Parts: sequence; structure tokens; C-alpha cells
Amino acid sequence: MYLKSIKAYGFKSFADKIEINFNENINGIVGPNGSGKSNVVDAVRWVLGEQSIKSLRGESSTDIIFSGSKSRKPLNSASVTLVFDNSDNYLPLNFNEVSIKRLMYKSGENEYYINNERCRLKDINDLLTDSGAGRDSFNIISQGKIDEILSTKATDRRGIFESAAGVLKYKKRKEDALKKLDRTDDNLNRVNDIISELETSLRPLERQSKEALEYLEYKDKLDNVSIGVIVRDITDYNNRINEIKGLLDVINNEVVITSNEINNTDIKLSKSKEELKKLEDNINNKQTMLLELTRNIEKTSADIRVLEERRKYSSDSDKINDNIINIKKELMEVESEANRLGNLINDKVSNYSSICKREEELDTKYKSLKDREVNVNNSINLNNREIANLNYRIDYLKNNIKSNDSLPNSIKSIMDNPRLKGVHNVIGKLITVSDEYKTSIYTALGSSNNYLVVDNRECAKEMINYLRDNKLGRATFYPMDVIKERYVLEVDLDKVKNIDGYIDVASNLVSYDNKYKNIIMNRLGNNIITRDLDSANNISKVLNNKYKIITLDGQEVNVGGSITGGSSYNNGILKYKNELDSNEKKLIGIKEKNTLFDKEINDIYKELSIVDRDIHDNKVLKEEVSNSINKLRSDIEALNDKKELLDREYNDLSSIISNNSRSEEDNLLNSYYNYIKSRDNISNEINNLNNKKSLINDNIVELDSLNRRVSSSYNDKVKELKKLEVEENSLNIRLDNLLLELGEEYNLTYDGARDKYHLDMDIDEAREMVSSIKNKLKNFGDVYLGATSEYERVKERYDFLIKQRDDLYNARGTLFEIINEMDSIMKEKFTSTFEAIRVEFKKVFKEMFGGGEAELVLSDPDNILETGIEIQAVPSGKNLKSLSLLSGGEKTFTAISLLFAILNVRPVPFCLLDEVEAALDDANVEAFGNYLNKYKDKTQFILITHKKKTMEFADILYGITMQESGVSKLVSVKLENIENK
Ligand code: ATP
Repeated sequence: MYLKSIKAYGFKSFADKIEINFNENINGIVGPNGSGKSNVVDAVRWVLGEQSIKSLRGESSTDIIFSGSKSRKPLNSASVTLVFDNSDNYLPLNFNEVSIKRLMYKSGENEYYINNERCRLKDINDLLTDSGAGRDSFNIISQGKIDEILSTKATDRRGIFESAAGVLKYKKRKEDALKKLDRTDDNLNRVNDIISELETSLRPLERQSKEALEYLEYKDKLDNVSIGVIVRDITDYNNRINEIKGLLDVINNEVVITSNEINNTDIKLSKSKEELKKLEDNINNKQTMLLELTRNIEKTSADIRVLEERRKYSSDSDKINDNIINIKKELMEVESEANRLGNLINDKVSNYSSICKREEELDTKYKSLKDREVNVNNSINLNNREIANLNYRIDYLKNNIKSNDSLPNSIKSIMDNPRLKGVHNVIGKLITVSDEYKTSIYTALGSSNNYLVVDNRECAKEMINYLRDNKLGRATFYPMDVIKERYVLEVDLDKVKNIDGYIDVASNLVSYDNKYKNIIMNRLGNNIITRDLDSANNISKVLNNKYKIITLDGQEVNVGGSITGGSSYNNGILKYKNELDSNEKKLIGIKEKNTLFDKEINDIYKELSIVDRDIHDNKVLKEEVSNSINKLRSDIEALNDKKELLDREYNDLSSIISNNSRSEEDNLLNSYYNYIKSRDNISNEINNLNNKKSLINDNIVELDSLNRRVSSSYNDKVKELKKLEVEENSLNIRLDNLLLELGEEYNLTYDGARDKYHLDMDIDEAREMVSSIKNKLKNFGDVYLGATSEYERVKERYDFLIKQRDDLYNARGTLFEIINEMDSIMKEKFTSTFEAIRVEFKKVFKEMFGGGEAELVLSDPDNILETGIEIQAVPSGKNLKSLSLLSGGEKTFTAISLLFAILNVRPVPFCLLDEVEAALDDANVEAFGNYLNKYKDKTQFILITHKKKTMEFADILYGITMQESGVSKLVSVKLENIENK
């Protein structure tokens, strides 16, 4: 490789474009002072990435841009391109020519290019480091710098040796590693700070999170049991309300009947009282008439007594008359008695007929009660038969469910084997589904309805072995630790949930214990239920047939779009469970009806016993009245016989005496007996009226007592009615409150809650549990519910940082390894190169100086990586103790010897030397030139010089002038035109 050309424009004094082409041997650049020769060296170092503006002899970085002259305006940018011949592929690029360009704008912005491709400075450094052509290499020696090799500190000299040893790239890697180590340590410190900060909050958060989880677990349990209690209460209240409604109907009916009865009795009472009043008036009138008659009787009786006294003294025939009068009297009395008895019979007969009428009424009432009794008893018997049937069916279904009769033998044998642990149940028994969705859910589950849910994979294995060993058939197992949930994606749901006919995802339509969520979601989580086949097809199409869609009547659109249908799939357990539910509900309804019938039959029995007693009493009364009528009739007959006898006697006596003397007596007697008869009649009538009055009075008393009885029963019923109404109202209020609580606190409807929450314990036990959990929750005090998510977030960050810290520690370890490796490579390379240069230096020095001694010594051999290098040089015949005692020329010559020694050990592609030989005399320049010739095949030399002797060694010479003030120009130069210096 060699430097083929330098192109510069705008760099320092190169205001015009300049291109210097070099050959691969020795090139000389000559020109007057200040013409810009050294700017060529600066240009090369600048392109190679020199960042120190001082070493480019400027103050600020933009000082390298042409700053203008008297005749030229300043330029805005500077650019220099170095073109290397790389046909030997010295640089690791697959090009015969490699150009490196740097461009700077006035703004200070730099651009770098390799082969016209924009690149970073680092790319240029990487390309050239340790190539012997880099900016830090010893191959470019600026003006006045050759002596520095000897005059600078031993440690500063190290760089040349490092460059020669090719360790710069390792040094660079080590520096990079150290920088990374620094950064890693910074990061580690930062991470450790954050970790310890997090640790202070993590522990309390962990405790709070545990507390929140425990609290939520209790809360969840509380909600479950509370909702279960609410559901149970609502169901009970509802049943009681229905029962009350039935009772209210019955009692209301009875109240209406009783109230009618009271009204009827009231009407009867007022009629009887009116009648009584009329009777009393009548009796009073009759009493007055009786008084009048009694007075007439007394007067007539007195007249008769006067007549009788007179007769005692008038004639014998008067005796007969006396007899006649007596007979007449007796006759009158008999008639009167017969008359009285006749009236009495009439009364009794009318009494008898009213008794008969009452008898009929009682019979009718009795019969209707008996009919009701038969009907109600029939209903009770029918219901009892139904209850017995239902109980039998319920027992049968319960047994069936309990003994797993509907299951295949293989599954039944596992579930019935107490030695097999970890079995839960078949999937079908773990869910509850309302009637409406039964068919679609059966269909969705299909045969997985009988898949057995077990704790884990091991359990399943054990059971499969058991089935195989005992030849019990096959079964499918769902281990709870393996089965994963399946979903309908949210995006997919959003696409279909508003499509007509969409109902829900199947898993949302069943209730189950949350611990089986993954199982149920696996079977039903990615099935969609729709109203009918049309909507199922629509939805399946929208979702690209990705999910199974099932209609309410059990038709399926499968994944992929195939359709399965026909009659609905029926499933043992679910069918049994649903039938059991509906039978239990039916049973409660029938029992409630029977309670009402029992009450009704009791009422009927009570009424029947009253009617029975009334019929008996009426019968006794009827017999009594009938007997007394018969007795009266025979009494009247006896009186009629007596009357006939007296009539005959009276007629016989009357024919004996003259009619004239009889007429006055007869008249008196007739009047007297007429009066008597009338009095008896009226007395009789008064008696009758009094009898009637006492009957009416009895009736009034009876009606009064009936009224009191019925009224009291009416009041009782009204009271009962009120009580039931109050109870119903209070139940309704409690029911409303519970429904409100369900809705507001748990966002549930009664149906939804009933389907999901089952209270599998006694209600009192549940209430106790609710209050005990509430107490526990109270004891928690203030719980920070966000702690769990915050703990998870902080813990995640903490774990992440711990992982980061581990990574950083690992990276640190790796960096240390790299540093150690670099150190050992550098030590090895440095030591071997130093040793080789030392040997060469001794040799070259002797050759250059024609004798003498030189030596290179490590100032700190125990610290190879930092040691300085001491130079010892004693030209022949001299006895010098210190380098500083060498002459200027000797110093330069020693330094050049070192340069050539290094070139012997480590040849470089090109060497740019700016007036290094300025201090040498011609003889030494000759030696210098001869040495150059030795190396020129291996190394290209570009020499900036004023010495003609040096120029003689150059194969090609360039001149740089500054004809136009301030701008460097390249001119061709001939050696013979140059004056010797
Ligand atoms: P000598 O033989 O004395 O060492 P030389 O030929 O090496 O001289 P240089 O040091 O290369 O000369 O050139 C210096 C010249 O470059 C000066 O004339 C200086 O004014 C000019 N120069 C340096 N920087 C700029 C710049 N930014 N713009 C214009 N000219 C500049």
C-alpha cells in the first residue's frame, strides 16, 4: 500500500484545488518558507482524524479552513482526500484503491467518507488503527517533532513503541471496555439504588397485598353466601307471598259470605222487631177489650144472681130452671174450652209447619256442606297422590344423580371408587343452566358432558391405569392443572355482538364454581349461541368460520363452516337435574294448595257439626209439637162428647118448662156466655199473641246471638286479613329491598343470581357465617385494595431490576475478562516488539554513527503496560552520561536511528517526514539518504525538505509556492534549479 495522492481544497493555504500525486518510493516536497509545505502534513493528519487543533497549529477547529487573503475571499469549507493504492489489500477492503476524505464546514460540522461513502470517524480509525498509517502512528513526523522523541519524558515515548507493537487497537478495545465498565458500574450503582429503594416499599406492599387478597377472599365468600342468602330469602318470601295471596282469596271470600250473613240476620232482626211491636199493640188492644168484657160479665152475672134470688121464691119449676142454668153454664164452659183448645191446635200446627220448613233448610245446608266436603277431600286426595308421585320421582332423580346412573360405566366405576383421589365430577354436573339455553348448551358440550374433571395429570394417569387394568372401558379426563381457557377474541366479539340473533358466548350462559373456570371456558368459552340458523350462518361468516356457533334449538355451524343439525342432543345428567328442579318447584306449589284445602275442610267440619246439632234439636222440637197436637185433639174430642151429652140434657129440661118464663133467663144467660165466650176468645187470642211474642223474642235473642257470633267471626277474619295484608306488604317491601340490593350492590337480577349462587348449607348457618365474615372484615380496618396490583407492578419491576443487575454483573465479568485478555496481549506484543526494536536500535545507531553504543531500557519493567522507555546513546569515542549532552545534530541522528530501528521491526506503508534532517550536516544527510534507499522498497517516503542533499535521494520532487499572496500552488521542480542549503 502507498499514498497515491492528496487532493485538497479550502484547507489552510490551499484555496485552489490541489492534487499531489506521489510515487511509491521517495518523494520530495520543496518550497520557500511559509509556502504551505507543512500544511500538506497537517492535511494528511487532519484526514486521518486528528482532533487536536493545536497539533494542527490552529486555535479553533475551523482555523483549518482557508481564511482568505488580500485578493481572495475566505472559503466556507475545507476538504482533503487521501488516495491509497491498496492493490496489495493491505487495508482490509476489497478495493485496489481506497480514498479517505474529510470535509469540514464553517459551522464546525465534519463529514467523513471512505471511497465516497459517508462514514463515521470511528470507521476510519478502525480501518487504519495498527495499520502503520493511522494518525497516532510514528510514520508521520511533523516539523521540529523529531527531537521530541529524545527530549520528552520516558513515559511519553511509549506511544511510538505501542504504535510499532500494533497494540493500539487492543489499547483502544481496553479503553472501550474500561469505558463500558465505568458505564456498567454507573448503571449497577443506579440499579442497586433503585433496588434498595424498591425493597423498602416492596415488603410493606407485599404485606398489604396479602392482606388485600385475604380481604377480597373473605369479601368474595361473603358476597357468595350473602347472595345465596338473599336468593333463598327472595324465594321464601315469594312463596310466602303466593301462599298469602291464596289465603287472602279464601278469607276474602269468607268475609263476603259472613258479611252477607250479618246483613241477612240484621234484616231478619229488624223484621222480627217490627212484628213484635205490632203484636204488642195488638195485645194492648185485646187487653182493653178483655177488660170491657170482664166488666160486662160481672154485670150480667149480677143480673143472673138477682134473677136466681127471685126465682127461689116464685115456683117449683124453678128448680128445673136452676138445672137448666147450670147445664147451660157447663155447656158454655165446655164450648169455651173446646174453642181454646182448637186455637191452641192451630198455633201448634203453624209452629209445626215452620219446624218442618227449618228442617228442610237444615237438610239443604247439610247436603251442600257434604258436597263441598267431598269435593275438597277429593282435591286433597288428588294432591296427596301427586305429592307421593313427585316425592317418589324426586327421590328417584336424586338417587340417580347421586349414584351417577346416567353415566357410562367407566366413569361411574371411577366416581364410585373411594380409593381414587382427585376426582371432581363430570363437566355436565359442574354447571347449572336455565331451561331456555339447555338445548344449545347440551349441544355445545356434546360428549364432553361426560368428561371427568380431575386434579392433575397424575390423577388422570392413575385412573387410566385403573380402567385399563380392570378392563372397565375408556374415559376422557380433564386435569385442572393442564386445561387452558379458550376465548372468543374481544375484536371478534365487537364484530358480532350487535348482529341480529346474537345471544352470548356459551360460557356466559351457565353458572359454575369459579375454580372450574378454565375447564368450562375450555369447553364453552369459544362457542357462540345464536337465536337461529340464519343468524348463526351470518355470524360464522363475519368471523371467517373461526368459532363454533350453536342455535337455541341445537343446530351447529362448525369451525370451518360445516353445519350439523337434526333433533336436539339430550343428555342424562342435565336432563335429570332440570327435571329435579322443576319437580321440586311443583311439589312446593301443590303442598301450598293442600295447606289451603286443609284449612277449608276444617271450616267445613266445624259448620257441619253446628248444622248437625241444629238438625237434632229441630227434630226433638218437631216431635214434641206433634205430640202436643195429638194430645190436644183427643182433649177436644172428649169435650165434644161432653157437649153432646149436655146438649141433650138441656133440650130435655127445656121442653118441660114454658118457653115464656125462660126467655129472660135465656137472654141473660146467652149474653153472659156470649161475653164469657168473647172473653175466652180474646184471652185465647192474647195468649196466642203472647206465645207469638215470646217466639219472636226467642227468635230475636237467637238472631242477636247469631249476629254476635257471626260478627265476631267476621271481625276475626278481617283481623286475619289485615294481619296477612300487613305481612304481605312487609314481605313485598323486604323483597323489593333485597332485589334492589342484588341490583345495586351486586349488579345481578334475581334470575341471574339464582342460576349462579346456590346456598349449600342451612340458612341459619349461612346467616351466622355472613355475620362472622362481616366481623372479620371489620377487624381488617383500612385495607388498601390497590396493593395487589401495585405490589405486582413493583415486584415485576423489582424482578426486572434484579435480572438487570445480574446481567450487569455478568457484563462486568465479561469486561474484566476482555480487559485482562487485552492486557496480556498488549504485554506480550509490547515486550516482544520492544525487545526487537532494542536490538535493531543498537545496530542502526552503530551503523549511523559509525560506532558508539546505544540502548533502550524500560523505566518500570514490572509495569509493562505503563512503563516508559529510556534512551541511552553514546557516540563513539565519547563518554556522555546524559542525552541532553548530545549536540542538536546528534540528537536528531539518534532519533532518526530509532525511527529506522522501528522501521526494521515494523515496516509501515508510508512515512511523512517534515524536515526531520534539518539539523544534520551533509555527511549525516548522506547516511540518512542511504538508509532511506534501503527502506524505500518496503516503505514510501514523502520528505519535506530544504536540503538539496536530501532532494538528491528523492525519485520525484514537487514544489509548493505562494505566488499569489496567501494561496499555495503546486509547481514542478528540477533539482538543478535548486540552490544548495
Ligand atoms: P517553512 O518552510 O517555513 O516551514 P512551510 O512551507 O512549511 O514553511 P506552512 O507552515 O506549511 O509553510 O504554511 C504556512 C502558511 O499557510 C502561512 O503562509 C499561513 O499564512 C498559511 N495558512 C495557514 N493557515 C491558513 C488559513 N487557514 N488560511 C489561509 N492561509 C493559511
